[in-house]
Amino acid sequence: MACTVLGGGVSGLSTGIKLLERGLEVHLVAEKLSPETVSDTAAAWWYPFLVEPLIKTNRWSSESFREFVRLMNEEGLDFITMRMGREYLKQPCSAPGWSESIDHFRILEEHEVMDGYSFGWEIEAPVIEMGYYMPWLRSRFESLGGTIETRKISNFEELESNLIVNCSGLGAREICRDEEVVPVRGQVVYIQQDPGFGRYDQQPESLIYTIPRRDVTVLGGTAQKDDWTIEVRKKDEEDILEKCESLWPELDRSKIVGRAVGLRPSRTEVRLESEYLNGKRVIHNYGHGGAGVTLSWGCADEVLRMI
Ligand SMILES: Cc1cc2nc3c(=O)[nH]c(=O)nc-3n(C[C@H](O)[C@H](O)[C@H](O)COP(=O)(O)OP(=O)(O)OC[C@H]3O[C@@H](n4cnc5c(N)ncnc54)[C@H](O)[C@@H]3O)c2cc1C
Repeated sequence: MACTVLGGGVSGLSTGIKLLERGLEVHLVAEKLSPETVSDTAAAWWYPFLVEPLIKTNRWSSESFREFVRLMNEEGLDFITMRMGREYLKQPCSAPGWSESIDHFRILEEHEVMDGYSFGWEIEAPVIEMGYYMPWLRSRFESLGGTIETRKISNFEELESNLIVNCSGLGAREICRDEEVVPVRGQVVYIQQDPGFGRYDQQPESLIYTIPRRDVTVLGGTAQKDDWTIEVRKKDEEDILEKCESLWPELDRSKIVGRAVGLRPSRTEVRLESEYLNGKRVIHNYGHGGAGVTLSWGCADEVLRMI
């Protein structure tokens, strides 16, 4: 069976790999490839953030978690590392649905909660360094026989295959005329300093994160809905640094080495469903918001189950 995957971000490449592993013939078409996709700017910490519906995203993120651990342990990918992180919350709440499917999850003791917060939890989860991971995904895809073409399309008619998997992220706004997909702008700062463990407050209105990678720690963030600005804003950087200092007072601004902006392809719910359009079967897999990496393998498996 032959299939075309539209999109060369983390969703398109992961889905393409799963389809190739099942023996399908896969051709990938994308306007932009790494390092020019949104996926390249992902921080990228495994954490289901800014995505719905929870009943499905909890399952997809748990499946991805297991695959990242497998890639790290069995395939030796050293650009995926397990990191401790603490999430601080203003109000006590029940443990998230995905907490049972990961090995390390515990509620913080009162003395471990930062000032200004009343509750929190600690988890150990994969951090994926996208600068290495995206090229690895591409080379895996090609080594399995997948082919890649760089081209922008305006509708599915332009693709020859009768089976299409649509992983076009924000591009679905135009191709599917889906106005539910909106950008949620994310700006980050890179610093060459290790906080030891990651510190988080991932409420969209406050949004603070410090994600330690081997090379740099990624500081964030912003979650600005319907904001298409891809330039770095000085004011946002100052806000990010002030917020991060509230959770990490030792942060040393002299160690900042870079910054980036990406537009998260956000949607009220991830669109993972199948439809027929002029005789072609189109399986949509887009709208992963702030968790496209976290959901990538689980969503790819779901596409496979649908096919
Ligand atoms: C600052 C920031 C931090 C983030 N941190 C995390 C994190 O820690 N963990 C996490 O899980 N997620 C994180 N995310 C979210 C994550 O980056 C996204 O959810 C994910 O990258 C979406 O991947 P995608 O493949 O669906 O879309 P994209 O990466 O945007 O790829 C879309 C692809 O479709 C192609 N395309 C679109 N339209 C067309 C067209 N008309 N014709 C041809 N090709 C087309 C594009 O060229 C591209 O190849 C973060 C995002 C940002 C911005």
